[in-house]
Amino acid sequence: MSYITFFDPFKEGLCTCGKKYTINPYTGCNHRCRYCYITSYIKNGFKLRLKNNYLKVIKREIDKISNSYPINISSSSDPYPGIEDRLFLTRKTLLYLKNKNFRISVITKSPLVVRDIDILKNMDVFVSFTITHFEDQKAKIIEPYAPPVSERIKAANLLSKEGIRIVIRIDPIIPGFNDKKEVIEGILSRVNNLYMVVFSTYKAKPDNLKRMKEVLPFIEKLPWENKKIRGYRYLKRELREEILEMAYKVGINFTQRIGLCREGIEKFKTTKSCDPVF
Ligand code: SF4
Repeated sequence: MSYITFFDPFKEGLCTCGKKYTINPYTGCNHRCRYCYITSYIKNGFKLRLKNNYLKVIKREIDKISNSYPINISSSSDPYPGIEDRLFLTRKTLLYLKNKNFRISVITKSPLVVRDIDILKNMDVFVSFTITHFEDQKAKIIEPYAPPVSERIKAANLLSKEGIRIVIRIDPIIPGFNDKKEVIEGILSRVNNLYMVVFSTYKAKPDNLKRMKEVLPFIEKLPWENKKIRGYRYLKRELREEILEMAYKVGINFTQRIGLCREGIEKFKTTKSCDPVF
């Protein structure tokens, strides 16, 4: 079994990423965000597990591949769960990657990433924080066990002070919850030297929709497209365009790099991909 997977964008509906590798130092994620997709393809996705012999295997695998493709850490888990504080699996992975000069993209909701500033500031790296609201209590509604958004913003500012490129992912944007100008502005205005922002509207799968309905019961009544895209239910295109136009107009005041994730809409973005490595 390989711990480095090759991400093929052609398998993902409306994905604009190029070819890249993905490493998940942990299996599953105990942040348990209600909108998370991993439970649709990982059994017991919200149960955090360790991989057999992870450090030995990942070192061997990193030694074998060339750095011609970037690496994403992580797409199906958070690379900085609480136990990373004492296990150092992500930290050691970063050191292996640094030795081979990989271009990497770290995606997290955890302020623990700050611990690794000493490594990150000497790498070709982008650190993305997913932030769905600027108020801790509001974000808790849909991300009850993830670190508070205020801590993520503090971490983003500490990293950017060290010259690390910061990406904010406002994902998912949910009509009636965080689709207001004030919310987008409230998030972006708190981040210093923002490198890029990525917007993505909520895309439903049966299991995440069930969890979301428990806290946002109106969600089912939103205008949904009839046809699914790669198994996801999308909000009506007119509504998504309206939201993304508003987000674009706010975002452009903070950064010239605006990405959209799996929207299939070209007009409200300025970057080729939602992943800053491309
Ligand atoms: S942090 Fe990411 S992987 Fe973890 S539960 Fe939340 S959305 Fe899923």
